[in-house]
Amino acid sequence: MTHLTFLGAARTVTGSKYLLEHAGTRVLIDCGLFQGLKELRQRNWADFPVPADSLAAVVLTHAHLDHVGYLPRLVTQGYRGRVFCTGGTADLCRLVLPDSARIQEEDARQANKHGYAKHAPALPLYTEVDAQRALTQLQPLGYDRPIEVAAGITVTFLQAGHLLGSAFALVTVKGGPTILFGGDLGRYGRPVLPDPSPAVDADVVLVESTYGDRDHAADDNGQALVDVITEMLTRGGKLIIPSFAIGRVEELLYWLRRLEQERRIPALPVYVDSPMATEALRYYTARVAELDPELRPTQKGVSAFGSARFQTITSPRESKALTASSRTAIVISASGMATGGRVLHHLAAALPDPKHTILFVGYQAAGTRGRQLVDGAKEVRIHGRPVPVGARIVKIDSMSAHADRGEMLRWLGTFQTPPKRLFLVHGEPGPMDALKAFVKERLGWDAETPAHGARIEV
Ligand SMILES: [Zn+2]
Repeated sequence: MTHLTFLGAARTVTGSKYLLEHAGTRVLIDCGLFQGLKELRQRNWADFPVPADSLAAVVLTHAHLDHVGYLPRLVTQGYRGRVFCTGGTADLCRLVLPDSARIQEEDARQANKHGYAKHAPALPLYTEVDAQRALTQLQPLGYDRPIEVAAGITVTFLQAGHLLGSAFALVTVKGGPTILFGGDLGRYGRPVLPDPSPAVDADVVLVESTYGDRDHAADDNGQALVDVITEMLTRGGKLIIPSFAIGRVEELLYWLRRLEQERRIPALPVYVDSPMATEALRYYTARVAELDPELRPTQKGVSAFGSARFQTITSPRESKALTASSRTAIVISASGMATGGRVLHHLAAALPDPKHTILFVGYQAAGTRGRQLVDGAKEVRIHGRPVPVGARIVKIDSMSAHADRGEMLRWLGTFQTPPKRLFLVHGEPGPMDALKAFVKERLGWDAETPAHGARIEV
């Protein structure tokens, strides 16, 4: 008998964790953090439902925190085994796990300082030391190479096209079913990342449903970005782009380089001012062979991402000088929702002046500074001070790393034989139920949408 327990991303987006049990062997697929609403985040504090040291292996599909961010917590609870993932995922974990720990530690410090901790003293979910320990357990593997991760359980990673290193995990259980864990599904025909691999036939399939109720806007060939830059040039100021440090920065740099080469924009100074984004860019550049074939450099030493006047900012001193300068330039900095990081200094300096432009290129969650600005706030608070908003605020919606409804259907259509069971995961109930109806209508397949904690025999 083989059982799957849905420990996260069940009728919600975050916290991806699936416990596979067969003949006394336990393997955990994904080890994600719950994020967002408080009642979800509180789940991160619950004891792991089985003893952590009873797991034979952990398998990760990609390095987003909602898929890997619980790993240090699992380690603090006694997990000492190996954590299998692709090389790209291992690289990015070296950035995101210590960073996540620093945020947990800072939150605890703030709670203690301002006395709003319910339990004094407030403790971090895990520390940077825990995160470093978790990193030592990573076991990077190549794509398309089956490997036995635990007795009778073999895993093969297939390209998912969602993030550097992202994968579907095809799990073969000896004497049991074949299960395809879809992780997050990337998109077709997008720059930087390759298309998702075609599906491999499996008895049981788990697929995300984040955008299960909609289709993304058609590709505009970079025109929205050209329009923003053209307008910014007439104003004569800077263009500040708050961006997620990993993935989105690479897509922006790709477009800036391409638009420049096509002479649709002039060669402008472009800066990436974020230590994490700079590190991630290094990993993307080093693994360019795993990315979209069009990125492979034709000449040695030519970066796939650098436009003519591209520069990364490293030291805080350089960052301060860039913040103080009002010369025309494009500045890409994290965080993507303007909740922290160096971008706050750039925003504090640029927001009051109408000659500058602020461009948001990703989802802005409710309650964030980014959302306030996109919603037209006349003033925001940054580092405890009110900052008036005079700059032009714009948003481009086209850059999503998740497949839309049509792309999910396209991928599901690549199965030679329909799976015996299809589980929809990683979505809010609305989009998830919409996708379930859509799959039934278009493919005639019945999909299941298990509840949090459901343990199902497969
Ligand atoms: Zn993801």
